[in-house]
Amino acid sequence: MPYSIPSDEEIRDALDIVIKRMKAVGSLRKLRELVIRELRIKDPSYTVGPSRLREIAVTSPIMNTNIEARQASERKDLKGKCPVCGEKLKRTKNETIFGGTVTLGYTCSSCPYWTNLKGRVPTRYRFEYVKEHS
Ligand SMILES: [Zn+2]
Repeated sequence: MPYSIPSDEEIRDALDIVIKRMKAVGSLRKLRELVIRELRIKDPSYTVGPSRLREIAVTSPIMNTNIEARQASERKDLKGKCPVCGEKLKRTKNETIFGGTVTLGYTCSSCPYWTNLKGRVPTRYRFEYVKEHS
């Protein structure tokens, strides 16, 4: 059966239903399974790729994402982009005793990802339902 691609809106709706019901989901793989099941109630040919779902999930206002990561074995070129959601990374700086600043690493401007200079590779995600802030 050929797959069809749901809209961001449809993915967000399915995600909301899943996280409100589950309260917490311990991996992206599990989350994707549940979201796809939800999407297929609407259209049995729907599917969503893990990176697209991850990008939508980490920026959801009703979810907290916990990112487990391991240290990269080689220095990675992040190219200023977040490996989790694709947004811009901001430098984290520290002042030196000589009055200058030194870059310690990067934090993402739209999701909880952070890294030191060597690079942290995300390995596992945990998603938790949080009440909508008003
Ligand atoms: Zn990010």
